[in-house]
Amino acid sequence: MQITEIYKSIQGESTHAGLPCVFVRLTGCNLRCSWCDSEYTFTGGRRMALDEVLEEVERLSPDGGLVEITGGEPMLQEREAIPLMQRLLDAGYTVLLETSGERPLAGVPPGVIKIVDVKCPNSGEPETFYMENLDTLGLQDEVKFVLSDRSDYEFARNFVERHALDRRVNAVLFSPAFRKDAEGDRDCSHCLLDPRELAEWMLEDNSTARLGLQIHKFIWDPALKGV
Ligand code: SF4
Repeated sequence: MQITEIYKSIQGESTHAGLPCVFVRLTGCNLRCSWCDSEYTFTGGRRMALDEVLEEVERLSPDGGLVEITGGEPMLQEREAIPLMQRLLDAGYTVLLETSGERPLAGVPPGVIKIVDVKCPNSGEPETFYMENLDTLGLQDEVKFVLSDRSDYEFARNFVERHALDRRVNAVLFSPAFRKDAEGDRDCSHCLLDPRELAEWMLEDNSTARLGLQIHKFIWDPALKGV
């Protein structure tokens, strides 16, 4: 499979935020989100056999733990990504799959925790969510909305209500979008939507979603890759 990078860091998002995690970042994406901070994954990378990827994960985290399959869009390489996820599960890892939600997820092995985006209007990729994926979601999975403004928030709030998402999954995540050219200060000034404003809207609406910040961007320089 085509791999951009494999590295160990702190998980920055989801209900697993804060835990050490090995990231397997696959090359290539068919979307072009306006705030994407992973454009360096669109091309390049290097070809690695499944066994080589497993060896590298085991080298970085020999005693099991958390592994995230991400991209880019990892499901573009599902023919190899799915066996990789199964092998990682078999080896005792907790496996997260971070995906745009645009690709069918029915083939993802049971036991993998899916973290699925639903792209909001200001992402530049609205209406790309593959609706049949709703039927693949279970109580271990998470659905994430990255929000740039009030219209994104209202879209997310309505989507959650319409599909009773909070009853289908472990967590619904509302996350302020980060400026893709952010660098330097490790604070909220780079958020396209002020987290305080988002928190106030959520409290006002008695939201059942979880406000998520990309904590790796508050730990390291937000421009830093491979963390
Ligand atoms: S789906 Fe992810 S990797 Fe692809 S463009 Fe959007 S944010 Fe970037």
